[in-house]
Amino acid sequence: MPDNNAQKMNPWEMVLAQVDKAQKYLQCDQNMIEFLKHPERALVVSVPVRMDDGKLRVFKGYRVQHSTVRGPAKGGVRYHPEVNLDEVTALAAWMTWKCAVMNIPFGGAKGGVECDPDELSPGELERLTRRYTADIFSFIGPDRDIPAPDVNTNDQTMAWMMDTYSMQVGHSVPGVVTGKPIAIGGSEGRSDATGRGVVYMVIETAKKLGLKLDGATAAVQGFGNVGSSAARNLFREGVKIVAISDRNGGYYCSSGINPYELQRHFAENRTLSGFPGCETITNEELIGLKCDILVPAALENVIDRENADKVRARIVAEGANGPVTPIADEILKGKGVFVIPDILANAGGVTVSYFEWVQDLQNYFWNEAEINNKLRQIMVSAFKKVMAIAEEHQIDNRTAAQVLGIGKVAEAVRLRGIYP
Ligand code: NAD
Repeated sequence: MPDNNAQKMNPWEMVLAQVDKAQKYLQCDQNMIEFLKHPERALVVSVPVRMDDGKLRVFKGYRVQHSTVRGPAKGGVRYHPEVNLDEVTALAAWMTWKCAVMNIPFGGAKGGVECDPDELSPGELERLTRRYTADIFSFIGPDRDIPAPDVNTNDQTMAWMMDTYSMQVGHSVPGVVTGKPIAIGGSEGRSDATGRGVVYMVIETAKKLGLKLDGATAAVQGFGNVGSSAARNLFREGVKIVAISDRNGGYYCSSGINPYELQRHFAENRTLSGFPGCETITNEELIGLKCDILVPAALENVIDRENADKVRARIVAEGANGPVTPIADEILKGKGVFVIPDILANAGGVTVSYFEWVQDLQNYFWNEAEINNKLRQIMVSAFKKVMAIAEEHQIDNRTAAQVLGIGKVAEAVRLRGIYP
């Protein structure tokens, strides 16, 4: 089970190791665990795209439904050169547990296309997205499987997916995806939901640990949808953001970075580089910074056996999915770091996606205050349940969240039975 910088741990192996760890506290027999350790379906597609220069390129795409036992499958679509079947399958399983932790009626899915969107023109990206959607058309639908944005995809990607699906069936189907622009059936609050949810969980943790957020310090890895929103929401709580990074490196400022100004700088320059008043640091250095709150909000496997010991934050709030490997989890536990696990910390996105889907199905839309209030209620309730399980069994927060999530899925499997 490799787990170091040279050889990243396979995320599906992480899922299996986590399930094994949770099994001890679950009222499940080995047959149930066997069931849960297998995704329901996986689709691998070849996505041919006519490039701007007239040449044809064929990309590999995936859609995996880990579970539809509690409702339609739900999960994002990732565009990244390193996307592969095991990664997508792991992300789909985490979606299953996450929806169950939040008690929203979805299963788990994930999709991806192996590509580097930075190398593609807007026209190529649109053709890739539309063809990928057509390739997975029979797999998805508002009652089957509902995609959403993930790494390197956004509301525009969802608009193209929604349009392509709608053209195939002959009428508009806004509920086939979430994270769409508001003008075509998206929800208020969705674009900010994941980062906002991360901060709701940080607020609950701070209350529990007796940490005053006003004046506390944070480092945020990743400045995309989740990282930038987490930074803005932390900043609004009075937290001093001492470092922010993206895939090109990090920026440190002991007196604090204003994430709104950084956002403006990024919008104008398409890079974090050159933001005034900061010194550059590496992503590795950011992980080891002395601060109260560390928010990994980029990719999986960034805190592993090699650097976990360097973490000096009191709280690790997992904006990303799978940023801490199982061995690193043990190291952080030994150091007394309070980890808010991904399936709890970053569940704000799928929760507001659920609201978006409900609004689309009803053709009745809520305002942002309603969305944020309902989001907070659902997340705080899940936080309390996870903390109660952690305290009852004296286990780490991730295992407690998995016990809650996997337990709910297992209950649904038990009630439905195994077909035929
Ligand atoms: P994004 O594409 O909007 O942003 C990703 C950010 O990470 C970018 O700033 C990118 O430069 C940076 N990054 C990429 N590789 C990096 C590296 N090696 N080191 C440091 N930074 C790196 O993606 P996102 O939607 O913000 O997703 C980020 C994470 O959050 C993923 O793990 C995703 O699965 C998870 N997540 C996203 C949502 C959502 O609603 N978008 C919901 C739940 C979880």
